[in-house]
Amino acid sequence: MSGPTGYPATSSTTWRPHRRPLFVAGPLPTDIAVGYDHIAGCVGASIASGAGADYLCYLTPAEHLGLPTPEQVRDGLIAFRIAAHIGDTIKYGLDDADLALPRSRSRLDREGQIAHAIDPETARDLIPGSGPCTMCGDFCAVAMMERLKKERADKRDRF
Ligand code: SF4
Repeated sequence: MSGPTGYPATSSTTWRPHRRPLFVAGPLPTDIAVGYDHIAGCVGASIASGAGADYLCYLTPAEHLGLPTPEQVRDGLIAFRIAAHIGDTIKYGLDDADLALPRSRSRLDREGQIAHAIDPETARDLIPGSGPCTMCGDFCAVAMMERLKKERADKRDRF
């Protein structure tokens, strides 16, 4: 842990000594994720940010192994933007995108989900060629719910 004005005293019992902005390097909650340190670090950073950290230090998949490629830098930055966002939701609550995206998902609205995604480019790359989402096939709970709601509405209209 450190801040722009130096490290807090090791005897400090709080995360925010003297109310200085707090910077955390990582933190990496486990060392066994080598090759995936950006994911392990993202978990630690989410917790730290939620607990009050102001600045995060991102990690890439190459951390402790080598110099990251531009793609690995991008992966690390996206992971830590997610961590910062999770921390903000813990500290300040959900924002408009957090509320809008699940609404889009419940309507199987692919474009709405992409519009509110933290990395719309990757989300769009993962879209299958056909159908709104192919994960559960005919057992898509969202589609089933939509069908049920429509059947109920049709029944109501008939009586
Ligand atoms: S197919 Fe499965 S994962 Fe995809 S939207 Fe439906 S329930 Fe969700």
